[in-house]
Amino acid sequence: MALRKNQRYLTAWEKQYFTDAVLALKAEKKPGNSLNTYDQFVSWHQNNMDAGHFGPALFAWHRELLRRFEIELQRIMNDSTIGLPYWDWSVDNSQTSSIWANDFMGGNGKASESWAVTDGPFRRGNWELNVRDPGDPLYLRREFGPNPGAASSLPTPANVQAALKATPYDVWNYSPNAQSGFRNMAEGNIPSPGGLMHIRVHAWVGGNMSSAFTSPNDPVFWLHHCYMDKLWADWQAMHTDQYAYLPDVGARTGHNLNDRMAPWNEKRPADVLNTWDLGYHYDNDDYLMPNDVLYPGQWIGSASRRFSLAYSASDKNNLVLNSSTWSHPLWLSTNGQLSDGWCVMQGDGNLVIYDWSNNPPWGSNTDYGYWIYLRVEDATAQRSGHLQMYKWSDGTPINWSVPPPEVGNPPQH
Ligand code: ZN
Ligand code: ZN
Repeated sequence: MALRKNQRYLTAWEKQYFTDAVLALKAEKKPGNSLNTYDQFVSWHQNNMDAGHFGPALFAWHRELLRRFEIELQRIMNDSTIGLPYWDWSVDNSQTSSIWANDFMGGNGKASESWAVTDGPFRRGNWELNVRDPGDPLYLRREFGPNPGAASSLPTPANVQAALKATPYDVWNYSPNAQSGFRNMAEGNIPSPGGLMHIRVHAWVGGNMSSAFTSPNDPVFWLHHCYMDKLWADWQAMHTDQYAYLPDVGARTGHNLNDRMAPWNEKRPADVLNTWDLGYHYDNDDYLMPNDVLYPGQWIGSASRRFSLAYSASDKNNLVLNSSTWSHPLWLSTNGQLSDGWCVMQGDGNLVIYDWSNNPPWGSNTDYGYWIYLRVEDATAQRSGHLQMYKWSDGTPINWSVPPPEVGNPPQH
């Protein structure tokens, strides 16, 4: 299970790990392939614009593309827990946001050098574009807004909220001309109040990102579309009374619920409706899954977001359960000062904090030898917000929940 995290909370190590994996796909050519593994994705995007855009399959097709990319990242790093990071451009919305630093995506292009990106892992000389649109140079270009060639600003939180409120998923005629619906507002074809959403982000980054066909030449494409994918998951969670996808019939070929998606022709939109089934989830879910890792500053929250579980540097590197209505923590893993480290929901069922020397100063003692997941649960009539563990295979509650006194301290054994 891959945990897809907000890029603003990635550690320096996670950023380097991700960009190293992307560079490794660029450097790899599988036997019999004329393109390297990364550029195969650019080519799929370039040659299947109609299958993946301007209609309901926008979300389904990019979900399939992103998941295939994520699986390649996991394969080349031999690590099934790597998840794509997402870029919430409604918050990290400036030219100086940390996403554009030298240690991650690199920054804006240089106006004096035809907008070539000259810093970061994807700088000119270190990242060559092989699948190009006519006239494109060999290097990555960006021309951030408000430069003349770009959108002046990124979509706002209000734009995001307007799209998330839109129902149903899509409406006739299931094209850029559809007058309402979540998909067309989020895709960016309804100017107001959606603010041109997805399209505007491509246009704001400018350069290769603003060239629709080959926009995956800029690795920030994955972070942009990962956030789009998260928005679809969020929309589904907000509108459980709505069909997750529309239509069954009536859209052009490739865009109906049971049409196979080109060029792979393996999956249909109906097959990609649930991220859990596909093997990943987002860091705003209320679950910590087997092999999910939290680094300092990272957290998951309850469905209402009133309760959160953080691995917190400011709480002496402890796990902490917080409530938005109380200034003090509801629960801390220990009262002591722990060394810098990380926290993992291990495959043996144990939730463990490790320091960087791999010593575990704290564990939940739930290493029963089977997969367990942990959930941050909202308050009910019976009890306050709390953490509860469940057996993965059948959802049976494990005798571990905090804080006490409802069930008691973690059992010792
Ligand atoms: Zn696309
Ligand atoms: Zn796009």
